[in-house]
Amino acid sequence: MGRNLETHDFYCIRCGKKGIPVVRKRGHQHGKHHMKKLFCLTCQEEINHVECKNYADVIEFKEKFERGEYNDAAKESLSYVRDSRKWQDNLDNKTDFKQFS
Ligand SMILES: [Zn+2]
Repeated sequence: MGRNLETHDFYCIRCGKKGIPVVRKRGHQHGKHHMKKLFCLTCQEEINHVECKNYADVIEFKEKFERGEYNDAAKESLSYVRDSRKWQDNLDNKTDFKQFS
């Protein structure tokens, strides 16, 4: 067991910290720096993480992160979460209005 599995590290695009690793079947290949939405323990939010399959990928991610290349993507990732919360608020407001009319 485990011979066909490998662990891929994921790095949070907002804080740049290593996130929860994901175990994949060997041969399950995405493009380089594939993004996946995961829960970041540091940010305490669901946010896109960049998949790093090897040390070179990690170095490249860190360089891009330092240059701020993920800033926009991180914001987008967060606004998506905040929008869905706003939407929930709107629903709650609507039920309040119903009681008044
Ligand atoms: Zn984070």
